[in-house]
Amino acid sequence: RAKAAGGNRYETADADSDARAIARHSLTNRLPAAFDNGEFFIEYQPLVRLDDGTVRGAEALVRWLHPVHGVLGPDQFIPLAESTGLIVPLGRWVLEQAARQARAWGGTGDGRAPLRVNVNLSPSQLRCPTLVADTVAVLDDAGLDPSALCLEVTENALIGADEEELHTLRRLADLGVDIALDDFGTGYSNLSYLRRLPVSTLKLDRSFTRGMQQAPADPVDVKIVEGIVSLAHTLDLSVTVEGVETGTQAEHLRSLGCDTAQGWYYARPGPPERLHTLSLADVAS
Ligand code: C2E
Ligand code: MG
Ligand code: MG
Ligand code: MG
Repeated sequence: RAKAAGGNRYETADADSDARAIARHSLTNRLPAAFDNGEFFIEYQPLVRLDDGTVRGAEALVRWLHPVHGVLGPDQFIPLAESTGLIVPLGRWVLEQAARQARAWGGTGDGRAPLRVNVNLSPSQLRCPTLVADTVAVLDDAGLDPSALCLEVTENALIGADEEELHTLRRLADLGVDIALDDFGTGYSNLSYLRRLPVSTLKLDRSFTRGMQQAPADPVDVKIVEGIVSLAHTLDLSVTVEGVETGTQAEHLRSLGCDTAQGWYYARPGPPERLHTLSLADVAS
C-alpha cells in the first residue's frame, strides 16, 4: 500500500515502523533486568459501589519506571512480557504485592467491610500449571482471605481457553476467589457460554458507556447496557463499569442497575495509601 504511493511516503512509513520495531526490541531485551532491578510498581484505582458510593476495593495496575523513558503504561510492555514469558514471574509479583496491600487495607478498622483487590491475569498465567498452587501460597503468605481477591481475565482470553484452563479457573473459584470477565462485550462471545464459566462479575468495556458521558445519553448504548445488566443479574453476576469519567455517566449507570464503577470521575490510578482516605469518605454524592 505504502509502496504504491511511492517516493518519500514509502520511506517515511518504513523508517517509522523500523524505529518502532527497534524500540520494541530494546524494551523487550531490557525487561528481565528491569524486573531484577525493581523498576516495576503498582498503582491502584478504586472500585466504587454505585448504590451507596462507598469504595469496595481497587484494581492493581502495573507500571514500569524506565530509567530513560520514564513511566510506561502496561499497554507498552505487557504484550512484550507476554511474548517472552516474563509475564509469569511479573504477574506473580503483582499478585504478591496486591495481596499484601489488600491485607494492609483490611486492617484499617474503620468499621467497613475489608477492601478487596482486583488483579489482572494474562493468558500465559492462566496456562501456567502452578497458577492455583501459586495463588494459594500468595494468599497464605499475605494472610489474605480468598474472598478479598478478584482475578480479572479478559473475555478474549476466555474465548480462547481450553478445558484445562477452564478447569484452572474453576479451581480458583472453588478457593473462594472471585473471577471477573474483563473488557466484556469486546470479544463477540456467545453469551450462553457464561453459564459454563465460574465467573462472578462482568466488567463492561468502556466503549459501551462512552455514549453516556453527557446528557442526553446515546439511546442505543442505554439499551445495550440495560440488556447486559438484565442478563448478568439473571445469571447472578454483578456488573462493573469501566471508564466512568463524568457524574452524568455515573448517575445513568447507577439508574440502569450497574453495581460497581471505576473511572477518572472517582479517581485515577494512584498510590495505595490513597485508598485509606478514600475509604473513610464517601466518594460519590
Ligand atoms: P484493564 O484491566 O481493562 O484496566 C483498565 C484500564 O482503563 C487501565 O489502563 C486504567 O488506567 C484505564 N482507566 C481507568 N479509568 C479510566 C477512565 O475513566 N477513562 C479512561 N480513558 N481510562 C480509564 P492501564 O492502567 O493503562 O492498563 C491497561 C491494561 O493493561 C489493563 O486494562 C490490563 O488489561 C493491562 N494490565 C494492567 N496491569 C496488569 C497486570 O498486572 N497484569 C496483566 N496481565 N495485565 C495488566
Ligand atoms: Mg482489568
Ligand atoms: Mg478492563
Ligand atoms: Mg478495558
